[in-house]
Amino acid sequence: MTSEPRMALSEPVSDEVRKTTCYMCACRCGIDVHLKDGKVRYIEGNRDHPVNRGVLCAKGSAGIMQHYAPARLRAPLLRTGPRGSGEFKEISWDEALSLATEWLDGVRESDPKKLAFFTGRDQSQSLTGFWAQQFGTPNYAAHGGFCSVNMAAAGIMTIGGAFWEFGAPDWDRTKLFVMFGVAEDHDSNPIKIGISKLKKRGARFVSVNPVRTGYSAVADNWIGIRPGTDGLLILSLVHELLKARRIDVDYIVRYSNATWLVIDAPGTAEHGLFLRDKDGKVQVHETVTEQVVPLGSAGARAGLYGRVELPDGRAAVPAFQLLAEKYLDPQYAPEAVARETGVPAETIRGLAAEIGRVAFDEAISIDQPWTDVNGQRHQSYVGRPVSFHAMRGLSAHSNGFQTARALHMLQVLIGAVDCPGGFRFEPPYPKPIAAHPTPHGKAEHFGSNKPLSGPHLGFPRGPEDLLVDPEGRPMRIDKAFSWDAPISAHGLMHMVIANAHAGDPYPIDLMFLYMANMAWNSSMNTAGVIKMLEDKDPATGEYRIPKIIYSDAYSSEMVAYADLVLPDTTYLERHDCISMLDRPISEPDAVQDAIRWPVVEPDRDVRGFQTVLLDLGARLKLPGFADNHGKPLYKDYADYIVRHERRPGIGPLAGFRGSSGDRAGRGASNPEQLQRYIENGSFFSAHIPLEAQFFKHANQAYQDFAVRMGFFDTPQPVTFQLYQETLQKFRLSAEGVREPLAPETHRTRILESFDPLPCWYRPFEEAAVSASEFPYHAITQRPAAMYHSWGSMNAWLRQIHTRNALYVPGPICDELGLASGDWVWVISHHGRIKVEIARMEAVNSSTIWTWNAIGKREGAWALDRDAPEARKGFLMNHLIHELLPPKGDGLRWSNSDPITGQAAWYDLRVRIEKAEPGEVSEPHFSAVAPARRHADELRYGQEWAK
Ligand code: SF4
Repeated sequence: MTSEPRMALSEPVSDEVRKTTCYMCACRCGIDVHLKDGKVRYIEGNRDHPVNRGVLCAKGSAGIMQHYAPARLRAPLLRTGPRGSGEFKEISWDEALSLATEWLDGVRESDPKKLAFFTGRDQSQSLTGFWAQQFGTPNYAAHGGFCSVNMAAAGIMTIGGAFWEFGAPDWDRTKLFVMFGVAEDHDSNPIKIGISKLKKRGARFVSVNPVRTGYSAVADNWIGIRPGTDGLLILSLVHELLKARRIDVDYIVRYSNATWLVIDAPGTAEHGLFLRDKDGKVQVHETVTEQVVPLGSAGARAGLYGRVELPDGRAAVPAFQLLAEKYLDPQYAPEAVARETGVPAETIRGLAAEIGRVAFDEAISIDQPWTDVNGQRHQSYVGRPVSFHAMRGLSAHSNGFQTARALHMLQVLIGAVDCPGGFRFEPPYPKPIAAHPTPHGKAEHFGSNKPLSGPHLGFPRGPEDLLVDPEGRPMRIDKAFSWDAPISAHGLMHMVIANAHAGDPYPIDLMFLYMANMAWNSSMNTAGVIKMLEDKDPATGEYRIPKIIYSDAYSSEMVAYADLVLPDTTYLERHDCISMLDRPISEPDAVQDAIRWPVVEPDRDVRGFQTVLLDLGARLKLPGFADNHGKPLYKDYADYIVRHERRPGIGPLAGFRGSSGDRAGRGASNPEQLQRYIENGSFFSAHIPLEAQFFKHANQAYQDFAVRMGFFDTPQPVTFQLYQETLQKFRLSAEGVREPLAPETHRTRILESFDPLPCWYRPFEEAAVSASEFPYHAITQRPAAMYHSWGSMNAWLRQIHTRNALYVPGPICDELGLASGDWVWVISHHGRIKVEIARMEAVNSSTIWTWNAIGKREGAWALDRDAPEARKGFLMNHLIHELLPPKGDGLRWSNSDPITGQAAWYDLRVRIEKAEPGEVSEPHFSAVAPARRHADELRYGQEWAK
């Protein structure tokens, strides 16, 4: 808690203040909601909240306008006109839930996989995933596949955690902070608070981003990299650090797999795998006795170099030797990558030197004895005060997984993971891959009326864990965990509608979506997706995607394409839990979770989606949702949050457990738990003792703490996987030497991208199209004041961004004779849009860009027909296809990372041509009828929405 004195407030503006958690973006700051006469009057930051400490951003304070938005849905809707017309009739909840149950029950009885249940940016995935698991469909995921699964999967597979929700820079101690590809809407208040700490201390902040706005605008150094080449830049930094021997050898020997012996036997099924003894123990080369011994043998000094001849005639080398040989190659020298990355060689060399200098010459230490998991006592924590953060700019490319892996490898090599001044894990992370499930959804796992035997999403350990049939065909509608995208740990939501429409790999009967604007800004090829949603089978006259149930709080574009709409509440009218089972709000020094609760009651006939899901689960008599007599197990979501147990004593919330509310982590459910949270400001925080705060991956005190808190039942230390054996298993399958064999069609692609050491390859779209025909990159990002499509209909936030322009670099403007206010055609291999431009200098010279999701469809979101968002706002999505360009063999890959299936939004290549001036951006779609009439004017105290 802050010890700073509170500022005196001016005249009270409210009768009462209720503390809850913001949901105007995903940061989950604490807010004080001021109520007057039962209405929301004002929102301010909660000064005692650990996430934001009173800081509130524009979005957070504009929550009042979100809560009273004219676009709020008022009652369940049943479609009466054709899809897309927006013609509905209001129905009762009884009717809506009966109909939904009838549809869902029919699917479950006949073939549960014919339900595709996908959720957008919801924060209740531990419930929605559990519901889908109990329903028995393999087709569930949330929005991670089109957001940042590359970051999550690469981080978890390499260091056991990832940026943002699983970790953070040590803002109080870091001396050099390097940020890759982070737009200013991301982790908004925590990063702003962190950067202000750096500025106060004089620490250096370097931003690598093609566009210099937001965070990049206040960086000490801006590196305007060419999109899709960050991996090459990072590997060049590694090259320089290896050359200069700026590597923390002690750290990588202790905490990574650098010493593990890798079998060198080309053409065999074990080539490139770790050498193991008959008990499965990894082997290392002991440098004193020159023996091969099991890892962890007492007194053994494992080597980083050298080739070992094995008794069976094969050879083995330590993983680090392969690593060093690879990255010391001149192809990674700064001069060699400068042209490709657009970053001068001297800048790369300078950044590498600065990383090495700060990590080793400015090392810091905290005098706190601690014991590692091998029983060795250390007298202090040694810190390498260099920290990194990255997000979608790295992630949303077809080479994003390997790029994120490269960044984590760099962190490990300099010894800067979970040390003072470096990147620090946030509980319940770190977590080794062994503590994650494999994906579930194989044919034997699902059947009529049976739950899946485990969670949908996980991490395959090799090709044997793929969800494919005996012929190698995908088992899931999005083709996740198939040969197309083997480690798609968050699914591929961006492929669901296209695959369902094509009946590939099979048709579905019912699509159930929550909070995902798939008919507009959340889909690639938006016009195509709209057609797919409207398309009918000429033989039957039925829609190709026969039924769509959609839940949202607002009349988004997607609402018009639903057959049945279940209206959700606003975030101030609902219970939510920001759970340790999901994506909590922990800090490196504290275990933390939070709740939302109805600080005001809905004034419409709406229900929180999670309560509705529990109701549907009970009506369907799903195990875990109804008892043996078919009676509901839970009254509503609040009841579920308090009483549900995932394992004995482990529930959605970690705080105030046990009959008297004095237990943390593990403990019996406590009927007063939610009240205790509310009294505590709607969050719970448990401090991690200092002797457990650093090196959590190998710190015995932290591991014991994690077991006490219930993250694990036994200690789960993490060994950083610089060399990724799982990827090599896929390569062996692609080489045809290891079962199961990869299909011929996929072999080249796997061999080129599944390198067990981080690699860089040209993004697929860039490689597939002509550089002269499409010479520019086109990317999007979100502004600080908006968060996806929600913000751009908010009356206050619209005053900041009412429309978006296409920002074009000065040199391109000069070359094409363009000036701000001109109109251009932007043309990709897939489509064209006509938009107004603005000249900009602070951007990579081959990159045009715009703000995402400000463009709206006329009629949606209760905006006026002539709203600037609908007339001059636009989406880049029309230029991006969900499939890569044809390559002549009849097959088209999805426009995704080949390893994780992450949507490759930022691989887009375009050209621009000057156009006649216009009044309306193109394409311009016919208006959807608003889901209901609304008042013309917003005025506090009036009945805003009729
Ligand atoms: S950063 Fe702003 S919008 Fe996001 S949770 Fe915090 S206050 Fe709300």
